[in-house]
Amino acid sequence: MRARRKTRARASLLDVIVVDDDQSSRELIAIALESFGYPCRVAVDGNDALRQLADRPADVVISDWDMPRMTGAELCRRVRSGGDDAPYTYFIIMTAFDDRDHLLAGMEAGADDYQRKPVRFDELEARLMSAGRVVDLHRRLASRSAELRDDSTRNYLASRTDALTGVGNRMRLDEEIATLLSRAKRYGHKCSLAICDLDFFKSFNDRFGHVAGDEALRTVADGMRANLRSADAVFRYGGEEFVILLIEQSLAEAESVMERMRAEIERLAIPSASGGPLTLSVGVAEIDPANDHTPEAWITRADEALYEAKSRGRNRVVSTRPPKM
Ligand code: GH3
Ligand code: MG
Ligand code: MG
Repeated sequence: MRARRKTRARASLLDVIVVDDDQSSRELIAIALESFGYPCRVAVDGNDALRQLADRPADVVISDWDMPRMTGAELCRRVRSGGDDAPYTYFIIMTAFDDRDHLLAGMEAGADDYQRKPVRFDELEARLMSAGRVVDLHRRLASRSAELRDDSTRNYLASRTDALTGVGNRMRLDEEIATLLSRAKRYGHKCSLAICDLDFFKSFNDRFGHVAGDEALRTVADGMRANLRSADAVFRYGGEEFVILLIEQSLAEAESVMERMRAEIERLAIPSASGGPLTLSVGVAEIDPANDHTPEAWITRADEALYEAKSRGRNRVVSTRPPKM
């Protein structure tokens, strides 16, 4: 009695297709399966089974070997060719009582188990219990590997995100720059880079404290993101420095985008130590595929422009001279 209840509980989890060209055999098995508690579909041949499986996968296929147009072994091979991402289908092949050659060929085609004909229903019920365990195991493995895939995506993104501001970090920036450099060399795509440095930020921290400094960095990063096109991206380059990649933009275009950005940050009106708004100095450089052999070469040119912005009084955008033609 107890064993019976256990079987029923497991049974409700398995979805079975019976494939047999012989109507009475197929119906008998279907009736037996339903009496064990398994939801069951029937197919009249291999093609019918494949159509039904394409509609909705099954946990278990119980297929006759000997059918017109497609043998049970061929059906099994087709079911197995579904690829690694398809849910696992437990395949039971039915062969006539003494048919040892077919039995081996069926297992070679990828069947998990065999059932001799004529079918003894107590034996079939036992085979389905074992099928239930294997299907269960495959389900658990599939869900575990989906979790691992999600974890690895999350870790990938987290390791490339700046924890304080949520923008890309230095690692992400280095990868993007390497990609952009190789595209510029190969296809001549334009691209500009801006380094933005908050002005007198040390005094800001000294006056308002580090926590307020962190909050200001977040507000500035959000302000930058809000003012960029979706193709462009902002990264935290270091303490109070951000890099913006301006995809497909010439030096002149990038300069005017960054001039608007500088004004937007000023308009945020974050109070600075000197009483006026917190401001930004910006250096811009366009990629020079012929001379920028490393990411550092490109960044250094933008950094030199930033240095000039600082020395000319801060809160301004300075561009490098256009690349030599
Ligand atoms: P300049 O206009 O020449 O850029 O002056 P500055 O004071 O901004 O430049 P400096 O390089 O002297 O100081 C940068 C300051 O940025 C010092 C440091 O305390 C602050 N800073 C760097 N990272 C963080 C951070 O994560 N949080 C906070 N609150 N402050 C930071
Ligand atoms: Mg700095
Ligand atoms: Mg600074």
